[in-house]
Amino acid sequence: KMHIASIRESYRELSEKNAALEQAYERQQELDKLKSNFLATISHELRTPLTSILGYSEMLVGGIAGELTGPQLDFVQIIQAKSDQLLKLIMSLLDLSKLESGTVMMRRSDVAIGVVLAEAASTVAPVATKKGVTLTVDAPGDLPLVLGDPERLRQVFVNLGENAIKFTPPGGTVQMVARQMATEADVSDEPGMVLLAPLRQMVEVRVADTGIGIPEAERDKVFDPFYQVDQSSTREHGGTGLGLSIVKRLVEAHHGTVHIEGHEPTGAVFVVRLPASRPSAPPSKAAISVR
Ligand code: ADP
Repeated sequence: KMHIASIRESYRELSEKNAALEQAYERQQELDKLKSNFLATISHELRTPLTSILGYSEMLVGGIAGELTGPQLDFVQIIQAKSDQLLKLIMSLLDLSKLESGTVMMRRSDVAIGVVLAEAASTVAPVATKKGVTLTVDAPGDLPLVLGDPERLRQVFVNLGENAIKFTPPGGTVQMVARQMATEADVSDEPGMVLLAPLRQMVEVRVADTGIGIPEAERDKVFDPFYQVDQSSTREHGGTGLGLSIVKRLVEAHHGTVHIEGHEPTGAVFVVRLPASRPSAPPSKAAISVR
């Protein structure tokens, strides 16, 4: 009898805990929504005055208010650079909060990843050249198309390219390589079912660098907002720690995945996989050739 009573008691305790957990979960979701709204509002409010700070510094540099002395020009240029940095941070915060609350506008169309990669590469090429890092793009002309927002996809690869260059010493290389791959679509674990499962066509892009690499234990964490491997105040690379969290959410908004692998003997490889837009339709070679 005692036994049953104690079971009943612990069951009651369990249901209470369960109810409390459910409540906490709902509360958490409410808080998440509030946080997103707060971020969106505050980024907007910060951006407006900053735009005018930038505008006026530009006019000062342009000599509209009269010729500046050497030191005056130096100071205004510092104001400009720092304001620019702040604006980038605010735009990233705004981006992230929109992505988190699912209110980001996507203009989807059939996209040739080869073209997106070529554009992203030409955006970051000046930085690579300046640093002495070799940048290459390799995309076969017959890749299937991807259904997505070309601007947003370019943002993904510009970001990964910028990081790769930033963490690679002079003399190193950054390669962006695209290929087609087939993965099994989500199916039950039942043996035999796999044979009937349709193969999902994916486009895989690997952004590989020969830089400092990312320790295995850090590879999931770097996608968290504000996470940086080197958290010391003496860190030599700038940045906000928001880039990769935006990359991840953008890729996921395209029903894709992103993960990190190691690169032998040194470096990191960011692997982005995006579903092809029409698995069965043969892609037109002429339309997406990038060489
Ligand atoms: P940020 O570059 O502004 O710090 P990110 O979100 O883009 O922010 O990256 C987060 C962190 O991930 C970086 O601070 C760095 O520690 C690590 N990281 C990102 N890309 C690379 C890379 N290609 N090689 C080595 N470390 C990287």
